[in-house]
Amino acid sequence: MKNILVVLSGPSGVGKGTIAKLLIDRNPEFCLSISCTTRAPRAGETDGKEYFFIDKTDFLTKIDANGFLEYSEHFGNYYGTPKTFVTEKLKSNDVILEIDVNGGLNVKKNYPKAVLIMIAPPSLEELKNRLVNRHTESEEQILNRMERIEYELGKKELYDYTVINDDLTKALEEIEEIIKNEKSKN
Ligand code: ADP
Ligand code: 5GP
Repeated sequence: MKNILVVLSGPSGVGKGTIAKLLIDRNPEFCLSISCTTRAPRAGETDGKEYFFIDKTDFLTKIDANGFLEYSEHFGNYYGTPKTFVTEKLKSNDVILEIDVNGGLNVKKNYPKAVLIMIAPPSLEELKNRLVNRHTESEEQILNRMERIEYELGKKELYDYTVINDDLTKALEEIEEIIKNEKSKN
């Protein structure tokens, strides 16, 4: 069975980061791709762990060198998936990308075998609660993220699967089942 590339997308606050971390903890054969970003680290984030934090000049140089599988700009900052990191990891692991919908759709263009999974909230109210209660963004940043909710969820028909993150364990099991089935097709 060949290793597969899995993309997790969904609106900010839906639980992508939480799910990705637990998937890695529960499945040692999974590897989480680390994106590059020009945004500043949040409290508790470490360079090379959550992201590679680089400045805009280095990011633009990497774009010119065709170093990203995809990249996009959100909330005034660049985010991109480093190509070499992913192709190297795929030799030995299933690789999980946690990126936005445009990024996911671009990955599918460049790598059609990628499996796209949309993480959806049980309700918009619950999503907003999660975003506010995470206490990691300012009020303005929260409002920016809320404005993108409809856009992100509106792309779900273009994704291969949608998983609702209501009960976390159930969502994890559903995703693990999808990955198992997709791997068996290889
Ligand atoms: P994202 O990476 O999609 O922006 P996070 O993983 O940071 O979202 O999750 C946002 C908040 O919601 C966090 O405080 C997290 O602990 C919480 N959360 C994640 N999944 C669930 C769930 N199934 N039920 C309740 N809270 C959740
Ligand atoms: P955050 O700043 O909250 O960590 O992420 C903001 C947004 O950027 C989220 O929607 C996240 O999924 C997206 N993102 C993170 N890494 C990448 C990436 O490499 N490429 C793209 N296109 N989006 C990313």
